[in-house]
Amino acid sequence: MVGLRRRPPPGAIPLPWTDLAPPPAVEPPPPNPPPPADPPPADPPSTEPPSAESPSEPALDVRVIRSAKRTRTSSARLVGHTLEIRLPAWMSVAEEAHWVAEWTRRFRRKMTADRIDLSERAALLAGRYDLPRPESIRWVDGMRTRWGSCTPSTGAIRLSSALAPFPDWVIDYVIVHELAHLREGGHSPAFWRLVGRYPRAERARGYLIAKSGGEDEAY
Ligand SMILES: [Zn+2]
Repeated sequence: MVGLRRRPPPGAIPLPWTDLAPPPAVEPPPPNPPPPADPPPADPPSTEPPSAESPSEPALDVRVIRSAKRTRTSSARLVGHTLEIRLPAWMSVAEEAHWVAEWTRRFRRKMTADRIDLSERAALLAGRYDLPRPESIRWVDGMRTRWGSCTPSTGAIRLSSALAPFPDWVIDYVIVHELAHLREGGHSPAFWRLVGRYPRAERARGYLIAKSGGEDEAY
């Protein structure tokens, strides 16, 4: 497994992965308060690099429904443009605020990710820059230390859903970076020559470095 590394968000537990190790199947639970509620399985970290909030985000009204019958879990669903969040009646105001923020962030991210057909995009970029096509490409929530990853043996590419709100030319760069890994495993000069076929590679790298706090230069 090779991938684009990024600095873990502040407060996150550094994960012991390397470019060659598969990520853990299960993400650790978020460090935030409410222990009684059940987060959905692919739980994104609650402390992400500042990326999600931008004026281009889809509008979302929120309606909180308190239920005495509901004992411990929070849930959310989209009804038209309204996000209905169901919480147990006993939950504190602080916990409600946490869950409203968390569910809003998850749904916004999903709505932003849905605008892009990744398979179509990857096929287009592979054709344009003469790179291999992936067997599969998909968004993944909860990727904490990198923007994308690639498993050359299976041709599978995964992109962090934290990228979804970024400009298309940045997402295209990450796709090109991972497509290049299908041919060149490491970050060798040959690899960077492949990536350099994408004209905005340097600008996109600068953008990603800025988004991860300016410390990581591995992409
Ligand atoms: Zn890489």
